[in-house]
Amino acid sequence: MKSKIQIVEVCLRDGLQNEKQQLSIQQKKDLAKKLIAAGVSRLELGAFVRPVVIPQMTGTLQVVSGLRWPPNVIPSVLVPNLNGLEQALQTNIPEVAVFTACSETFNQKNINCSIDESFQRFAPVVKLAKKNKIRVRGYLSTCFFCPFEGLISERKVVDLTLRLLELGCFEVSIGDTIGAAGPSHVQSVFRKIKREVSLKKIAGHFHDTRGTALTNIYASLQQGVEIFDSSLGGLGGCPFAPGSSGNVATEDVVFMLHEMGLSTGLDLRLLNKTSLEISKWMHKKLPAKVSNAPKHWTQG
Ligand code: MG
Repeated sequence: MKSKIQIVEVCLRDGLQNEKQQLSIQQKKDLAKKLIAAGVSRLELGAFVRPVVIPQMTGTLQVVSGLRWPPNVIPSVLVPNLNGLEQALQTNIPEVAVFTACSETFNQKNINCSIDESFQRFAPVVKLAKKNKIRVRGYLSTCFFCPFEGLISERKVVDLTLRLLELGCFEVSIGDTIGAAGPSHVQSVFRKIKREVSLKKIAGHFHDTRGTALTNIYASLQQGVEIFDSSLGGLGGCPFAPGSSGNVATEDVVFMLHEMGLSTGLDLRLLNKTSLEISKWMHKKLPAKVSNAPKHWTQG
């Protein structure tokens, strides 16, 4: 196999927070164990936010505290502010993530502050996290289109990416939050980013709202991106497009990457099996293609 692609499994946070059906703390722990058993080495376990804001993230502290992970596995939790980080410090989580967007309107609606204010909020979070040897991932949303402001300037994406790295993030996830980008646009953005920073510090985060997520991953691979976020079963949705599919499905990404001779360390058969189990927990068919495909000829 050729180079190894890192998959960051986001179903327990980005996926579940956009689903009506809530999982119990025990189900979340079981899902995390199944993902780790399937070879997942990077996974979000939840978010340290107030349950009244995002009820789906209730119990994140118990999920993280009640889980053992092998040394090669790096779980992460989203922390919107210092309060969130203080909860993270009660656990032995090795990574946290902060979240901002390229659009002022989206940021105001999503995290109730301007882009500049979000950076002011993150500065002490990153400082305290690093002091405690916790690495910090940065999520950058609406890097292509914003549901309120439309097309986003590529220069703005590059500038905010650099700003997150300068702040101390080890990696920035470039998000097509509403699944509106196409492959030419994606390549253009990554081409500009890689002029200024190593793509080793950059991840692609694609949503499949318009059916372009896998194509966008393929386009990103051609530019040299080797880290992708995905959600088992395609769990999740887009909060600004009710009923549309959400994050690209992990099993669909893994199927494509393995077909291309790229390794992921993931076991597609176990991913498919877990995805179908979670579909029962969620009481609905999940949007993933590969786990729902006939099994008589596909791998896994
Ligand atoms: Mg997402």
